[in-house]
Amino acid sequence: MEIVVLGGAEEIGANSTYISFGDCSVIIDAGSHPRNRDKTFAPDFTVIEDEIVSAFILTHAHTDHIGALPILAHQFPTAKIYSTEPTRDVTEIMLRNSSKLLHYGNTPLLVESFLERYKKQELDILFQLMHIRKVGETFPIHSALGTSEVQAKFYDAGHIMGATGVLLQSNEQSVFHTGDFLSENQYVMGEASFPNHHVDVLITECTNGSDATPISRKQQEVDLANFINSVTNENGSVLIPTFSLGKMQEMLRLISILMQRNSIPTIPIVTGGMGRKICQLYDRYCYTGSRVNPGFEMADIPQERLPNKELLKGRFFKTPSIVLTTSGMLHSGTPSYKLALEWMKRPNFGIAIVGYQDPTCEGYALEQSVMGEEFMFGTMKVTRNCKLEKFRFSAHATKEQIVNLVHQQHPKNVLLVHGEYESCSEVALTLVKTGYEGNIIIPTLGQRYNL
Ligand SMILES: [Zn+2]
Ligand SMILES: [Zn+2]
Repeated sequence: MEIVVLGGAEEIGANSTYISFGDCSVIIDAGSHPRNRDKTFAPDFTVIEDEIVSAFILTHAHTDHIGALPILAHQFPTAKIYSTEPTRDVTEIMLRNSSKLLHYGNTPLLVESFLERYKKQELDILFQLMHIRKVGETFPIHSALGTSEVQAKFYDAGHIMGATGVLLQSNEQSVFHTGDFLSENQYVMGEASFPNHHVDVLITECTNGSDATPISRKQQEVDLANFINSVTNENGSVLIPTFSLGKMQEMLRLISILMQRNSIPTIPIVTGGMGRKICQLYDRYCYTGSRVNPGFEMADIPQERLPNKELLKGRFFKTPSIVLTTSGMLHSGTPSYKLALEWMKRPNFGIAIVGYQDPTCEGYALEQSVMGEEFMFGTMKVTRNCKLEKFRFSAHATKEQIVNLVHQQHPKNVLLVHGEYESCSEVALTLVKTGYEGNIIIPTLGQRYNL
């Protein structure tokens, strides 16, 4: 088989991988780059632009996996698009939102030929072309001439709703792609359930590969509860910036669990933005996929709606509350950013940072800020007077879980993607130390690997 990494080599970028079994070829994921707005916004498909692609397979609906689907689907118009049903539904919400942001938002304009692909009419057609497949169902992907086929199968990946790993099996060879995964329960999503048999090639994410000793989930729960109590004891409110897909739902559920346990007081929870829409989808599919409590609905957690128009008149400025808003990285102009500006003026208030902050974003500047000292927050010079604490409730596999998966599937070749170079090389080193004798590849963008 031939593999070309089109995005997500030595970084968490526009994730996409081309896999060809002779005349039957597929592309797994078609992500957009979280920061770049030039040509590198989309995966680099120049190496394979003359190939015939039979199918796109989407592992899950985070934008670093589906954000450039309109561009790639236009490039390979005969390719069918496969995903689970929740992923299809969330992809629609995410891409329609991207379309709004790219056309009207603060983001610098995308190269014109790309922007064309996010017009409403084009997206409407795209969603018509998506095919739904269930986890555990084997489905064939036919080559363009119908002369050969590859069998595909989705496996639960934990991580977020609808997330899967995918197994591809030709007559001769097999390859398993993990997508993003987590082999332990979160608060809504259950653990991944991946094949534990031999595959020829394993392609795995390495996001957390260089986190040496992650703090346990139990300890983080205690730390978060202590932080919330330290703020509410002084009559303050807590702001938790979250990503609308995944992090919002997990944090909302955790907060409700902490209240049920009486670890924190039962105070108003305020939620807003696209996260609420995605909560509804989490409820629609509450019996689908790997769930900690199948049937549990986010709507059962009492919540107040964030007053978007009168954000600064929110009740949470007078009554201790927990406010979950987007964006998770506090991009300028978002509710998270606007509220953080107000929070910083109040010494009895607190901000809990619960997700990864990219060094180029406003959230990173806030995370690094020192109480009482001036810093640049977007274009504003501000001083933080409120409390702030960092937590890391990651939805990605630990290094140990990645290494265990490799030993379980003992592939001849393992490709390490979706991680900075340090993360991938740390996983590679640990694999060697733990006796893995196969071929370890940290792929280079656009290079052809014949395996
Ligand atoms: Zn993801
Ligand atoms: Zn990802």
